[in-house]
Amino acid sequence: MIPALAFKHTVTERFLRYVVIDTQSDPESATCPSTEKQKDLGRLLTAELKSMGLADAHLDEYGYVYATIPATTPKKVPVICFCSHMDTSPDCTGKNVKPQIVKNYHGGDIVLPADPSQVIRPADHPALNGQIGNDIITTDGTTLLGADNKAGIAEIMDAAQFLIDNPQVKHGTIKILFTPDEEIGRGVDKVDLKKLGADFAYTMDGESAGSIEDETFSADGATITIKGVSTHPGFAKGKMEHAIKIAAAIVERLPKDTCSPETTEGREGFLHPIGISGALEQATLGFIVRDFTEQGLREKEALLVRIVKDVMKDYPRSTWRMEVKEQYRNMKAVIDAHPEMLDYAIEAIRRAGLEPVRSAIRGGTDGSRLSLMGLPCPNIFAGEHAFHSRLEWVSRQDMEKAVQTIVHLAMIWEERA
Ligand SMILES: [Zn+2]
Repeated sequence: MIPALAFKHTVTERFLRYVVIDTQSDPESATCPSTEKQKDLGRLLTAELKSMGLADAHLDEYGYVYATIPATTPKKVPVICFCSHMDTSPDCTGKNVKPQIVKNYHGGDIVLPADPSQVIRPADHPALNGQIGNDIITTDGTTLLGADNKAGIAEIMDAAQFLIDNPQVKHGTIKILFTPDEEIGRGVDKVDLKKLGADFAYTMDGESAGSIEDETFSADGATITIKGVSTHPGFAKGKMEHAIKIAAAIVERLPKDTCSPETTEGREGFLHPIGISGALEQATLGFIVRDFTEQGLREKEALLVRIVKDVMKDYPRSTWRMEVKEQYRNMKAVIDAHPEMLDYAIEAIRRAGLEPVRSAIRGGTDGSRLSLMGLPCPNIFAGEHAFHSRLEWVSRQDMEKAVQTIVHLAMIWEERA
């Protein structure tokens, strides 16, 4: 029997408070957090957690927020952590976010008020068709919304409030972790797992209501450096080997119909140039390599090497080198070792009245790195859609379902302990 719980949701009010705080991260910055302003949200969250009664809530020097919801059961229950990231994507401005709520959505296009060229169309966003009658939160069209991942933060905060207000609800020790800089791949660089003290974790950073993800891409970065042969252009005949032209030839020979973000979906990986810079003498090409398997990564990197070698045949006196750096790894193997993590989450999603949908993320999360660091961490939906764009949206009802999922999940871990 599913226990009846009297939810008094305030997740939307929380969400609206958090999204107006600019927390954009900056990949060019070397500090942690990459932008000091992320601590503005960290301070607010810490104050709210403290006023809920979570005495140990604190923001550390790196911009991480930690807090503990004490257990309400004498049983020995594994310590579960719920995690979301505070930063928003560098791809789209997060300054002066002005959210609007489209109440009782009737279907059709949503034209954003401050920039009518920005339209959220069901044709482009089919998930809207499942939102009839719901309250949809969008921006005014001039910024991103930041539902990625402030929806997750608001949901964890609201679930925490519920658990504190309802001590009769039995659960083990629950840890809360809010991270900076996830969007620039540095979300867990300075996390203190010993201090956190969790056995298992869940990120609340997925898309559609009901979704649970136990698999991410594996990811490498590859940098190719080309050294050409420089001579005075007036006396270059038969001598000059132009590094810019070599780099351009490499890009030109990349596969056109496969192996790129724009030609792949589902479980296919890709090889994707993300930067090119250079002059006559030296040029640098940056790539990201993505696949769900280690072998897939190796194949794509080998393909890149073959392309470069082939191009270099035309430039016998030039040299090149490629450096491959691991970025993150598919978390599936780690999570598969603890099947109960996923089973309980699926059960919690059902108890929240949703149909669970298992999928793989064509990207990474804080959870992929946490899993490989020894803290298994699948990803549960937060309800965010069209993230990193001005068309980003989330519905009140989906956020409320996420809050219920968190609470049920905490209870299930206690029941099964
Ligand atoms: Zn996110």
